[in-house]
Amino acid sequence: MTIKAVRGVHDILPSEAVKWQHVETVARQAFEVYGYEEIRLPIFERTEVFARGIGETTDIVQKEMYTFEDRSGESLTLRPEATASLLRAYIEHGLFVNPKPVRLYTIGPMFRHERPQAGRYRQFHQLNLEAIGEVHPALDAEVIGVLMELFRSLGLADRLTLAINSIGDAACRPAYREKLVVYLRRYAAELCEECRERTERNPLRVLDCKNPRCRPVLDGAPSARDSLCADCAQHFLDVQDYLKAMRISFEINPRLVRGLDYYVRTTFELTTTELGAQNAVAGGGRYDGLIELLGGPRDPAIGFAVGIERVVQLLPESYGDAWEHRRPFAVLIPIGDEALKRLLPIAQALRVATPKPVPVELGYGGRKLRNELDRANKLGVAWAVIVGERELAGGQAVLRDMKSGSQQQVSLRVLVQKLIALSSEVGHD
Ligand SMILES: [Zn+2]
Ligand SMILES: [Zn+2]
Repeated sequence: MTIKAVRGVHDILPSEAVKWQHVETVARQAFEVYGYEEIRLPIFERTEVFARGIGETTDIVQKEMYTFEDRSGESLTLRPEATASLLRAYIEHGLFVNPKPVRLYTIGPMFRHERPQAGRYRQFHQLNLEAIGEVHPALDAEVIGVLMELFRSLGLADRLTLAINSIGDAACRPAYREKLVVYLRRYAAELCEECRERTERNPLRVLDCKNPRCRPVLDGAPSARDSLCADCAQHFLDVQDYLKAMRISFEINPRLVRGLDYYVRTTFELTTTELGAQNAVAGGGRYDGLIELLGGPRDPAIGFAVGIERVVQLLPESYGDAWEHRRPFAVLIPIGDEALKRLLPIAQALRVATPKPVPVELGYGGRKLRNELDRANKLGVAWAVIVGERELAGGQAVLRDMKSGSQQQVSLRVLVQKLIALSSEVGHD
C-alpha cells in the first residue's frame, strides 16, 4: 500500500507553488518598504511559550496544540501561531534595546489539530507582521495600512472588507467582561453549549459564535465600545482618523473580539464573502501586555496574521500562466557522450546569461532522438537543439522550432548567442 500524507495537511504542487512564491514576494516588498525586517523562527518551542503567550483558557491551548515530549522528556509544541514565538525571540535576543518601534515580519507554517474541513488545515501557513514598543494609535493605523497595501499589490483589495473594533484595555475591559458575563448568564438557556462553557472561561469569545441559535442573544449583548474608558475611546477615534487620512475604508464591527486573551484595544479583520464560511483572510490587533507576560519589558505591540492558503485561493487562475512561462525555453539533445560533453558548457553559459538567464534542459546523451523530441514536446519548449555525431564533426547543431517543426543548422560557436537572441525576442521570462 502506498503511503499518503497525514490527514489535514496538504502538498503544494509546482503549479500552485508559483502562486505561493508570488504572494511571498509581494508580501516581502510590501512589508520592507515600510521598514519591517524578516525574522525566521523555529517551528517548535517549549510548550510554556504558548501556554503563557496564548492563554491557558483558549481553545488553541486546550484542544488544538501538537504537543509532545522529546527524547529528553521536555514538553515541546509545534507552533500554533507566530506571535508568542516572535516575542520569545524579541526578549531572548534583547531586540528591545533597538529604537522603537521594532518592526518585524515572519513567514511560515503553523500547526493546529483542528477538525479537518474545507479550507482548514492542520499545517497551514501565515504571513505575520508585528510592530513592537509603541502605543501611539498612528502605529495601529500603519499596521492596518501595511495589510491593505499588501492586498492592493495583490490586486485583491476590492474584494475584501476591513472591519475594526476596540475591546478596551486592562483599565476598562474587566468591567466590560463582568457586564458581559452577567448578561450571558442571564440568557444561558438560549445559548449553545459551547457559548455556555465559554461564558465562564473566555466570555469575549462567545460574541464570535457562528451558531444561528445564539445570534439573537448575542446581538443584544452589551458592546465593548460602550464600555471603553476615556483613553481607549480616544485611541480608537485616533486610529479611525488616521485610517481616513490614509483613505482606507473600514467598517466598525462591535462583535470583532479576536480569539486570544492578550489582545487589547484595536482589533481588525479582513474578510471576503467568496470563500464560504471560512471568510477571514487576515486578522490582527494590539497586545500591550503580552511581552511582559512572557518575561520581557512592558513593551506594547500590534500585529497581524494573514492566512496564505486563503490568499492563494483568491488569486485569479491566470496566475497559473506564470508557471507555463517558467518551463525551459529550450531542450538541448546530445546524441552520444562526446556531444553531451560539448553541450555541457553551452547549457551552463545559457543558464548564467546576463542580463537574463535562458532556462534550458540538457539530455543525457543516452536516449533515442525520437524520445527526446517527444519529451521536448510534452514540456512545451519553444526550441530543441540536436547534436549528433555528424553535427559534432561539422561543428554544427540542428535548431528545431518545436511549433512548426522546421529546422536550421547553427554553428556551435554561436549557438549561445543565437538562443539568447531568440529568447529575448519572445520576451521569455
Ligand atoms: Zn453559541
Ligand atoms: Zn480602556
